[in-house]
Amino acid sequence: MTKILIVEDEQGLVTLLSYNLEKQGYQVSVCMDGQKVMNTVAGDKPDLILMDWMLPNVSGVELCQMIRQNYETKETPIIMLTARGDEADKVKGLSQGADDYMTKPFSVPELMARIGALLRRTKTAPVRENLSCAGLEMNFATHQVTRDGEPVHMGPTEFRLLQELMQKPGHVISREELLRLVWGGSIFVELRTVDVHIKRLRAALNFGKKPDIIRTVRSAGYAIKVDA
Ligand code: CA
Repeated sequence: MTKILIVEDEQGLVTLLSYNLEKQGYQVSVCMDGQKVMNTVAGDKPDLILMDWMLPNVSGVELCQMIRQNYETKETPIIMLTARGDEADKVKGLSQGADDYMTKPFSVPELMARIGALLRRTKTAPVRENLSCAGLEMNFATHQVTRDGEPVHMGPTEFRLLQELMQKPGHVISREELLRLVWGGSIFVELRTVDVHIKRLRAALNFGKKPDIIRTVRSAGYAIKVDA
C-alpha cells in the first residue's frame, strides 16, 4: 500500500487531506510537529511526503534539506504546500529538494493528480524477477502462472491483479489501491470492476478443488493467503 505522510500543523487541512487521500486508497500518517518529522519519516518510510512550508519551530525548507541529506530518505518524493504564491519561494522550495509545489488554497483534485503523477514517475522499476509464493509461480518472461506446478490460464487483467497481490504475500491490498495499480486509477472504472476480475482470478486459480488462495477482507480488500 502506498504510504503518504502529511506534515502540516493546521488541523482542518490535515482532516481534508487525510479524508481525500484515504478515499484514493493511500495509507495516511500525519505529523503536526515539525521537530518530529525526521523520526516519523524514519519509522513510517512514506512513499511520498506532503510538506507544509510554514510550520512552527522549523520550516518546511529546512525539513526538505534534512530529508534529502538522510541516506534512507533522500529519494522520498516531496510535494510542498504553501500559502505563499511568490515565484522566488517556489524556486527556493524546489531547489531545496521538493519535487513539486502547490499554493494554498489548492484544488483537491489537482493535488491528487499531482500526487499520482509524482508517484508514477518516481516509482522504482516494476518487478521483472519471477514471483513465487504459496505454491504459485509467476514468470514474466513467458507470462505464465503455475499453481503447484500446473499451468493456470488467465487474462492480462487477472495477471496484473495477481502480480500486485503476489508482490506482497499476505498483505491486504484495498480495492481502491488495486484499481489504481492495475487500471491506473481511471475515473471511468468502478470499484465493482475489481471484484469482477478477482472473481475470475479466483476461478482460474482454484481449479480442481484446490483450496481458495485469495482472502477477501470485507470492506478492506484482497490478499494472497500465505498458508493456503
Ligand atoms: Ca502551517
